[in-house]
Amino acid sequence: MRIVIKKEACIGCEICVNTCPEVFLEWGLHMRAVFEVREPDRYGALVRQAVEDCPARAISLRENGASADGPGG
Ligand code: SF4
Repeated sequence: MRIVIKKEACIGCEICVNTCPEVFLEWGLHMRAVFEVREPDRYGALVRQAVEDCPARAISLRENGASADGPGG
């Protein structure tokens, strides 16, 4: 699971950071616009919540290898 944030759209409200700091500090602190979620099983639900709640709709998700069609990574 990879997160992509549109820098130009983000208004800096920090809702995403408050929803799941373990994941979104990459953005809130390090200003990384594209990053991998290290524990998607653990944080997936919160990440989706943050995507929903972002008032600027600046967050998008890329799900990779979520299906059962390969050895995985
Ligand atoms: S919730 Fe959206 S607008 Fe707010 S800081 Fe996060 S990415 Fe930016």
